[in-house]
This record gives sequence, structure tokens and C-alpha cells, in this order.
Amino acid sequence: MQIKINRGTNQIGGCITEIESSKGTKIIIDIGTNLPDSEGRKKPEIELEGLTKGSPNYKAVFITHYHGDHIGLYNKVLPDIPIYIGEVSKEIYNIVQTRLSKANLVGKEDLERISKFKTFNIKDKIIIDDIKITPIAVDHSAFDSYMFLIETDRKKVLHTGDFRTHGQRGKAVLEAIKKYVGKVDCLICEGTTLTRDNSKILTEFELQKKAEKIFYENKYNFVLCSSTNIDRIAAIHKATLKSHKMFICDDYQCELLEYINTISRSNLYKFNDSTNIKGTKVYRYAPNMLEKMEKYGFVMLVRANEKFEKFLKLFENNAFIYSEWNGYLEGTNEDYKRIQDFVPKDYIYLHTSGHATPEEIKEVIDITNPKYVIPIHTENKEKIKELTDKAVILEDGEEFILK
Ligand SMILES: [Zn+2]
Ligand SMILES: [Zn+2]
Repeated sequence: MQIKINRGTNQIGGCITEIESSKGTKIIIDIGTNLPDSEGRKKPEIELEGLTKGSPNYKAVFITHYHGDHIGLYNKVLPDIPIYIGEVSKEIYNIVQTRLSKANLVGKEDLERISKFKTFNIKDKIIIDDIKITPIAVDHSAFDSYMFLIETDRKKVLHTGDFRTHGQRGKAVLEAIKKYVGKVDCLICEGTTLTRDNSKILTEFELQKKAEKIFYENKYNFVLCSSTNIDRIAAIHKATLKSHKMFICDDYQCELLEYINTISRSNLYKFNDSTNIKGTKVYRYAPNMLEKMEKYGFVMLVRANEKFEKFLKLFENNAFIYSEWNGYLEGTNEDYKRIQDFVPKDYIYLHTSGHATPEEIKEVIDITNPKYVIPIHTENKEKIKELTDKAVILEDGEEFILK
């Protein structure tokens, strides 16, 4: 078996990993776009022979989750190569991209390609010639995210994608690795936090408790977080209901939450718009609600745009919670600037990472006991050596033969 990290050995995001069996079957894990830097500069995208140009030479592309740095180049993949993604991920991605298409930011042909994505569910096993792929559900800031166990040539490789174990479902991730993966020959592991400062991080539950306290103390609350970070929204939603406030979203956010409500059996994700089952209510914003909002107090999920600016002015005496990566609050990148202009000076920072801390990475290394550990999705790959003596440090495009 041969492993090649086409991109991702020296950067966070833009991941493209290649696995080739000894018989020459080739698959790709993730096909992400480069993330722009804080000045808004983006490195040029790559072209790969047989994947994005020429005649197809890859059997399939597997997507770990719907973040752009893992899926963004899907429309560059040659049309004859199938793209696989989690069933729920596909629908969430479709809702988001359909909204962007209304602003002409996504083309009709892109939506068509998304509609053709093949899907899998937890515990499915997908056979691509002599390669077997088993998706393992993980906890991350994107819903329905997966690791992939890849088996061929009597070897086992675990590709972690992005993951963490300090979210609500974090411990279940470790249990699933123990149960469905076990020992592997090679671990391809995300290393986002090998660079970022991780002085004590909050668990998602601790974050929920902090939010609850803020909502008790303040009548009018705004929360800026990613509209697809469903675990964060679930934590904010629970904190809102415990503090007896109205939980308010706009149409787009409601559409996403309603979808989650229909597919999830877990009590963690009960967002109910149509009926008033205790502890699940989500209010879809309508102008006739203003009086009620003023009277009872509320928590509103917002995004950095004019529509929501209006509410911030209307309820001036508010608590504003910023619940995303704080890197967006610095730099001249246009998207970052939009957020900086929107967030008031006296914001409250309440966030926790979607990525495994070094200690959490170490736990996965201990469980899988690999012969080799290849760090990706990192700006400091050498630091993995502090966690394991099995590190294999690759450059982009370098081939690693797993014997
Ligand atoms: Zn990522
Ligand atoms: Zn991600």
C-alpha cells in the first residue's frame, strides 16, 4: 500500500490524501480548498492528473466532513469519479450551497454535482475494488463528520479527518475507535493544535454552563457562531431554555435545525419548531415577535450582516457572545473584516476548539498503537514527535510505502 499526502503536510486545511493498493487501485480522502490567510491571500489551487484533469485515474473520493478545507474542490473532480460523503453531511452541505447559489456564489452545475454525491452511514463498509473503507463517526465542529478506516493489502490505515474528544460525543469517539478500529499499521492524524495555543480548553458542556450563566444575567443575548456548528448551537439552545429565554433564529438557520431535528434520534439535537414540546422550542423570527422578545428576553443566533445589525441596534443593552475562532478578529482578510465590523467592542468570548488537543491525539495513538503516525492538517508537524516515536514526517506529494 502506498500513501501520499498531496497536500496538507505543512498547512491547516486544503487536505488531499491519496491511498493506492498494490494492485493500483487509487482513492482520495478529502479534496479541500486552501484556507486564505489573515490578509485574505490564498495560495494557488493544485491540479492532479487523473483526478482534476486528464482521464480519470482514481476510483473514488471520500469526504470526511463538509468544511470547505476538506470538500471545497469537489467541483474540480472529474465527473466520472464518484464522491462519497455522510448522508446527513450531504444534505447540510446542500442547504448551505443552495443558499449561496441564491446569491450567485455557487453555480447550478455545482448543485447538480452535489446532488450526485454518493452517501454512506455509520457502520457501512464501502468496497472499492481491493480497498475497504469503514467510516467511523466522530465529534467535530461539523455535524456528521467521519474518520476512515482503510483496509487493503492486509494493512489497516486510520485517517482521522478533523476530530476532537472534548465535545458532547467525544468519549464515544474513543469507544468507537476501540471497538471498530483497534490496532492499525498507520495513523494519518490531524495536528491542528500542534501550533495553536491550547492553554486549557473548555469542553462543550462547560461552555454550555457558562452560556447559561450569561443568559440568566442578561435579558437580550446575541450569539455569533457558525450556522453549521450544530453541536455548538445545541449547547447554546440548551443554555437558552434553562435560562427561560426565547431561542430565535432566522429562516435559513431554522431550515438547518429542522433538518437535524428530523434525522436525529438523540436528545442532544431536539430543535422543534412546529410543536411546543417542552425543552425543544425554536422560534423562527417574524416581525410580530418583537414585543414578545422585549418582554421575555431572548437568545438570537446571528451572522455578520446588515440584517442582524438591525437587531443589535434595536436591543442595545445586550450581551454579545462571540463563539468562533478568535483568529477572525484580526487581519485584513475581507471576510474577517466583515466579522470585525459586526462584533461590538464589549463582546464576550465563549468558544472551544473543534480539534483534538495534543493529549487527545495521544489517546488515539495509544488506542490504535500504530507502527507509523503521519501528521497532516498542521503547521507544526515536527511537534508530533513529542507524542510518539513512530512519527513519519512527509512533505506534500512524497510517497510513503507501507510494508
Ligand atoms: Zn479542517
Ligand atoms: Zn473541519
